[in-house]
Parts: sequence; structure tokens; C-alpha cells
Amino acid sequence: MRLWSRATAIRRRMLCLWLLLLGFALVTLALSDLFSRDRDHSRDKPGPPRRPLLQRIPSPPDLELIVESRDPALELGVDVAPLKSLQEDELLFVPSVQGTKSAPQKKGSYKVLMPGTSKGTAVPGTLAHGEMGKAVRLHLDGLEKDMEQAAVQKYGFNEVVSERISLHRRLPETRHPECFGEQYSESLPSASVVICFHDEAWSTLLRTVHSVLDTAPRQYLQEVLLVDDLSQHGHLKTVLSEYVSHLDGVRLIRSTRRLGAGGCRTLGAARAAGEVLVFMDSHCECQKGWLEPLLERVAQDRTTVVSPIMDVIDWQTFRYNATQWPVRGVFDWRLDFYWESNPQLEDKDPEKAVRPVRSPALGGEVVAIDRHFFQSVGAYDPGMLLWGAEHIELSIRVWSCGGSMEVVPCSRVAHLNRHHLPYHFPDQDLLQRNKIRIAATWMDAYKKIFYRRETLAHFIRQSESPNITERMRLKRSLGCRNFHWFLTTVYPQLYIPQDRPALSGELYSVGTGGCADYPHGQGLQGGNMSIVPCSGTGSQHCDLNSEGEVRWGPMGALCLDTKGDRVVLSPCPTHRPTASRLQWKFIKLSGQLVHQQSQLCLEAVKEGGLLQSSPREANIYPSTGGLFLRQCTHHPRQQWHFEQVVAPKGA
Ligand code: UDP
Ligand code: MN
Repeated sequence: MRLWSRATAIRRRMLCLWLLLLGFALVTLALSDLFSRDRDHSRDKPGPPRRPLLQRIPSPPDLELIVESRDPALELGVDVAPLKSLQEDELLFVPSVQGTKSAPQKKGSYKVLMPGTSKGTAVPGTLAHGEMGKAVRLHLDGLEKDMEQAAVQKYGFNEVVSERISLHRRLPETRHPECFGEQYSESLPSASVVICFHDEAWSTLLRTVHSVLDTAPRQYLQEVLLVDDLSQHGHLKTVLSEYVSHLDGVRLIRSTRRLGAGGCRTLGAARAAGEVLVFMDSHCECQKGWLEPLLERVAQDRTTVVSPIMDVIDWQTFRYNATQWPVRGVFDWRLDFYWESNPQLEDKDPEKAVRPVRSPALGGEVVAIDRHFFQSVGAYDPGMLLWGAEHIELSIRVWSCGGSMEVVPCSRVAHLNRHHLPYHFPDQDLLQRNKIRIAATWMDAYKKIFYRRETLAHFIRQSESPNITERMRLKRSLGCRNFHWFLTTVYPQLYIPQDRPALSGELYSVGTGGCADYPHGQGLQGGNMSIVPCSGTGSQHCDLNSEGEVRWGPMGALCLDTKGDRVVLSPCPTHRPTASRLQWKFIKLSGQLVHQQSQLCLEAVKEGGLLQSSPREANIYPSTGGLFLRQCTHHPRQQWHFEQVVAPKGA
């Protein structure tokens, strides 16, 4: 009997337990239904989506794609940490802020600072009230400075300031008034805006996305395609997927391998559906009406690759700075890229203000290119590692293989110019290796000019050869023109150095043991010449040409000139014959470099050096040292050699 009643009691308890479990399951189902309905509603809501609630909700299948980029063409030649994107996504733990007292806005693992919301830590109670406030303020100011510095360190820009700026901020109007009267075709092609990112800050990435959504007409915007190039930062994982799931027309794909800037764009292009690809950096802000003029040009000629005028966002203040028109993209003999603004060229003709200008190269920040043309011309070179010079390679290839490039003035997009790159490269010389690929593939015999001015690349090239077989095959099959054609037809403004033996190289001073150099910060303006230790990198390379000019700088656009008895650099003349003020003659036997107009000799003075050794000369020479014109003597200070770090073989 007791046995029977115990069995009944156990059965009853089991039944209760089952009922309890059933009830729990029903409640859970009902709750999850409620949540997903909430989510659907929130999609219909107008206005920007809020920063996501910290909860993992599965994404719709087509929203986020984890791309197994096994295609060898997309793979990198360097070892990077294997991707754990999915696993990390699943492991990502974002603590809920609901119910906590101070409820700080959290994003990934760091706090978002709102102006005036910071709270101080305890300060000694002995201070008077006002003093205490001051002390707290000082303390907070210090903390804030520290945070800003840490942010600059991490991203290369002041992310604390960026966080305070709206994701929808409006840029001041900087387009030429003539642009407002421009008419564009009603049937423009559709665009996929491909935004690759690697460990981008939240605010800059999302401001880029919103800026596109806020400015591009919906009928032309096929999609915004975000491509995650194996980011590691927590905020770019589940939180980003969730945020993006609320944005109409935005897709996110993730690579399982680090592809680099070019490879990532090629991947995005393969997944994009728009007729025109607009590659955009992950820290840009678009001016109103930026898209239509780009699409118009590409629609008129599918082989034209275009860029907006790139305005500049300051990395410290996030101030927007308009770039002066006309501007075009160029590169120098070290294969470094510049936007060249040339206000002297500005014409009063209003037509010119809206007319695109041909550009020998385009920057990597924003370019628009027909999708089919991009594919047929060979996408980005898959041999280019991580970052650097891939846009120069694209530029030379587009021009040489039948296309053209332009800057379109009625389109303006601002790019955040960073203080430094935030990436840690596994290979320190990868930029040189990318440049070596360009030299080997595209520059024919002109590559020697590059190697003399970028000697590190020369030394790397001596011990290894780039594998460019595929690219050479592509070049042949496309029937691309040679570099001589590019230089003479597309970029005739680039001075072609003669680099004659014994008349080019580092200008070595026998008397001081240093090399002539100039302040590089002054760019194309030149300035006083100085004597500094020889660099051996090619940065001090100069070229005494058959015109008698001593050409300096990686563009060869600065000439050895005189200002009183000072020897300076100034922009070289664009017309022949060269004025005798800029002409020099090198006397090999004595090592003298004679200024043709004055018949005086180039003399080196070390900083402060002469003041002690010869008080009589103290009045003649300023203490700063530098290069001067003096009566010719046989003093070692007037003896020079052109030292060639890279021998001009066969030149
Ligand atoms: N990028 C990338 N993978 C990389 C390096 C860069 O996807 O390995 C992205 C980066 O996030 C940016 C774009 O490529 O959107 C261009 O890089 P970055 O802005 O650093 O170049 P910069 O404008 O400074 O020359
Ligand atoms: Mn950039």
C-alpha cells in the first residue's frame, strides 16, 4: 500500500514537471514571436534605425554572406591569422545595458561619449566646492585628452570627435553654381556602392553608409554592398550585422580571408548587381548630387572611369575642407599618388567649372567604373598585397588598355585623410612589393627611373622576382599599349629623367661628407637647400640633364635655383629654352658645379660648422648652413660627386 501510494506520488510529481516544462515552452514561443513581430514593425518605421539592442537575432539568409574566398586569384601571398569570423560572431558577448543604473551606451566593448555626459571620479573632499568643480573638470579634460589620444593611436583619426557628430550630418554646399543647372539623363545606369572595410571605426563606417543612403537617388542605387575584410573589432561583428539588417538596400558580406584593399573590392564586384560599381572607402561623406554626374559619364562611355572631386575631412577635428578645382590625380617616379590642385589653371569660363578633366590616375577613395569594363580590364591585380598602389596599377592599366579616367567636378565626396594607417602589416615591405609589380608589369625600361628613386624596392627586387605571368598574359590579350605611349599621350607633364652616369644620383659633398637635400614638406614649392647625411633611399636623387637643369624630387619638377647667394629649389620651367639662372655645368675633373649665369660655384656649408673654425667667415655664412654660390676655388667644400646608389645599367 505504501509502495503503491509512493508510486502514485512520483507519477504525480512527474506529471507536474511535464506540465511545467510544457508551460515554459509555450511562454518562450509566444515571447519569441512577439520579438520577431517587433522587429518587423521596426523595419516599417521611418527614420534611421537605432543602434541595435544587444541581442542575437538571426539574419535573413540573403543579408549576410560569409564568403569562402577560395578562389586562388583572390588569395593573398602573405600569412595572416586564419579567420574565425563565424566562431567569433557566435562567441561575441555583448552585455545588456537594460536595468543598469547609469546605462552607458555601449558599443562593442567601449563606451560612447556624449558631450557633457561624462561623470567624474572621486576627488579629495578637502577642496572647496568651486575648486572641486574645477579639479573635476581638469581631471575630465585630462581623461578626455587621453581617450582622444588612444583613439588616434587606434584608428589614425580622432574617433572621440567622430562619435559626437551625427551619422546624418549635412555638408556645406561647395559645388560650383553652374552644377545646379546640369541636366542628367533620366535613364542612368544603376550603381552598386561597394564599401570594403577592415577594422573601421563604427561612427565613420556608419556615417559613410548613411551618407550614401541620404544622398543617392533610390532609383539609381542598386545597393550598398559592405564587404568585411576580416575585421577583428567586436563592434563590426554581430552588432553590425544587426544594425545593417534594419537598413533597406544595404547588404553585408564577410570574407573568410584577409584580401587587402584591391582583393576586397574585386570580391565585392563579383557579388554586386549594379551596372556601375562605385568603390568607396569606409570613411567618406557624400555631397548632395554626387552620384548622378558620375553615372552620366560612365553611361556616355562605358570605358571611362571617374572620380568625384575628393574633399577632405580633417583627422583631428572632422572639419570638412573643400578641394580647389581643377584637380587631377597624378603619380611620381616613386609611384606615390597625389591629387594635384592647380588653381593657376582655373579659367573664368563657367563651362570649365562643370567639365570633367582627364586624369592620368585616380585615387583609391572613390571610383566609379562600369561593372563589365571592370571585369574585362582585369579587376584589381590579385597579386597586390593588403594596401598600397593598387589604384595606380588600375590607372595605368585602364589607360593603357583602352579606357580613360576623369575627375567629375559636379560630384564631390569627402574622404577622411588619416594621420597614419591603423593596420599592422605582416610584411613591412609590402608597399614596395606592390610597386615592384607595377614596375615589372607596366613600366618597361622606364622602371629603372623608379628603382633609382626607390632604392629599397631595387634591393628587394634583386633577391626576388614578382610572379606576373598572369598579368602579362592579360596585358597581351587586351593589346595594351606600352609605358612610352602612356607617358607621352596621357601624362606628358611628367618629366622623364635622363639619369646619365656620373651626372645623376645623390649630390655628395666631399668637403662635408653629406648630401644635398631640400625640405620635402614644402612639396612643389621647393625652398632652401641643405646638407644632411646621405640617405641612400633615393629620396636625394637628382638629375643634371642636357638642358643644364639639376632636377630634383620624385617628379623631377623642382630645379636647382638661386636666390641672392643662397641656392634653393624652385618649380622647373615648363618651356624651353631654360633660363641661364637655372643652368649648371659639372666639371668632372675638379668636381665643381658651376652656375652658368653667375659663373660662381656651388659650395656646401654644414650647419654651424664654419662658425667655430673660421670667425672671419661668420659674417659671410649664416649659422644655418646650406648651399651657397661662391667664387670658384679648389676647396673641398666646392667638390661634388653624383653618387649612384642604383647603377644606371646600360643607361
Ligand atoms: N581595406 C581593406 N582591407 C585592407 C586594407 C584596407 O578592406 O587590408 C579598406 C579600408 O578599410 C578602406 C579602403 O580599403 O575602406 C582603403 O584603405 P585606407 O582607407 O586605409 O587607405 P587610404 O585611404 O588611407 O589610402
Ligand atoms: Mn581611406
